[in-house]
Amino acid sequence: MRIAPFCKETQMESGVCGNNVLLTKVRSIKRIKKGEEVTVAYTDLLQPKSMRQTDLWSKYRFICCCSRCGAVPPTYVDCVLEEISVVNGSSSSSDSGFYRDKATQMLPKYIDDAISDYLSIGDPQSCCEKLQHVLTQGLRDERLECNDGMSRPTFTYWLHPLHHLSLNAYTTLASAYKTCANDTLALFSETNGNICEAFDMSRTSLAYSLLLAGAANHLFQFEPSLIASFANFWASAGESLMTFARSSTWSEFMPLSSLSSIRKHNCLKCSLRNKYETGSFHSQVQYADFEHVSSEFLDCVTGYVQTVWHFLVHGCNHLRVVRDPLDFKWLMTAKYSSLCEIHCCSGNNGGLNSGVYKNISGCEPQGCTSQVRIHLFQLGVHCLLYGAYLAGICFGEGSYLASHIQNILDCVE
Ligand SMILES: [Zn+2]
Ligand SMILES: [Zn+2]
Ligand SMILES: [Zn+2]
Repeated sequence: MRIAPFCKETQMESGVCGNNVLLTKVRSIKRIKKGEEVTVAYTDLLQPKSMRQTDLWSKYRFICCCSRCGAVPPTYVDCVLEEISVVNGSSSSSDSGFYRDKATQMLPKYIDDAISDYLSIGDPQSCCEKLQHVLTQGLRDERLECNDGMSRPTFTYWLHPLHHLSLNAYTTLASAYKTCANDTLALFSETNGNICEAFDMSRTSLAYSLLLAGAANHLFQFEPSLIASFANFWASAGESLMTFARSSTWSEFMPLSSLSSIRKHNCLKCSLRNKYETGSFHSQVQYADFEHVSSEFLDCVTGYVQTVWHFLVHGCNHLRVVRDPLDFKWLMTAKYSSLCEIHCCSGNNGGLNSGVYKNISGCEPQGCTSQVRIHLFQLGVHCLLYGAYLAGICFGEGSYLASHIQNILDCVE
C-alpha cells in the first residue's frame, strides 16, 4: 500500500497502481515531520511491550521496531503497564526473581477469574469483591510449601495502580457496579434501603470511570498514540456522569430541580462548548491548538472533580484513599503499595467490602447539595465535549464515537 498526502491536485491523477485506485483515508493523530516514519497500530496499545510483541508475532509474524517498542530502557508507559511489586513479610529478599515470576502468573489469573465471574457467570458482586480485594490488599501467596517445617514469610503481590490489569479492573468495576446498581433497583424498588445501596453503587461506578480517565490522561502525557483509548475513556465517563446527573431515580438524595436552570449553561472558564457549537473542533487549526484546548479542559475538570470526588467515593473504601483521580504524578516518586498500606491501616472495620455492601444505614446525604448535581452535570458535559474533540482527531467528524457523543449532548438541550 502506498500512503500519499491528500490534496486536491494529486487526488484524481491517474492512479499509480492502475485504474482501480482504492482510496482509503488515513488519519494522522499528530503532525508528521518531513521524512518521519509513519506507523500504524495493529494491537491494543494499552498492553505492555511483551504482550504487544507476543500478539503481533502470533497474528502477523513480525517483531515491531517502532520507537516505543525499540526504546532502551523501555519507556515509562511500558514500565508501569507491567509493574508489580513483591512485598515480603521479612526484609530478606532472596529469590526475588522466583517470586516475581510467580506474581506475573498469579495476578493475571486472579483478575481473569474475577472478570469472568461478572461476564461469564453473571455475578457482578463477586467480581467487584475480588477486584477490590486485589487492589486494596494485594494478592497473598499462601501456597508456599514449607518442607523444612519452618514458617516462611508470606509474600504479597501488588499491581501498580497503572498496571494494565489495574486499568482492566477499573473498566470492569465501573461496569459491574453499574450493573449491581441496576439489579438492586430492579429487585427491591420499593424499599428505601436498597435505593440507598444502589445510589452508593452508582457513585462508585462513576468514580471508577473517572479514575480510568485520569489514569489514561496521565499515560497519554507520555504516549500520544494512546489517544483513541483516551477519547473513549473520557466519552464514557462523560456519558455515565450525565446519565446519573439527569436521572430522577436519585431525586430524594439530590434535588433535580436545580438542573433545569443549567441546561443551557455555557462554561464561562473555557471555550470548549463554544468551539463545539461553531464546528471549529474539526478544523486543522483547532488540532494545532491541542495543548491549549487540553489545558483549558483539565483546568475546568480539575475544579469540578475537587467538588464531587468526595461525594462519589462515599461508599468505596478503595477509592476513598485516592485524593484526586486526575493526579497520578505522586506515583512517579512514591512507593505505590503505600497507597494500599494506608488503606489497610485506616481501620475500615476489618474488611474490603464493608464499606461497599454494608453501608446502607450510613447513607446520610453528606455533601448532597444541589451544587453537587450541577457539578456532576457540568463535569459530564466537559468530558463529553473533550471526548468529541479527541474523537474528531482520531476518527473524523462523522465517526461513530463523534456522533454518539453529539446525540447525548443534543438530547440535553
Ligand atoms: Zn511497536
Ligand atoms: Zn469549562
Ligand atoms: Zn451511602
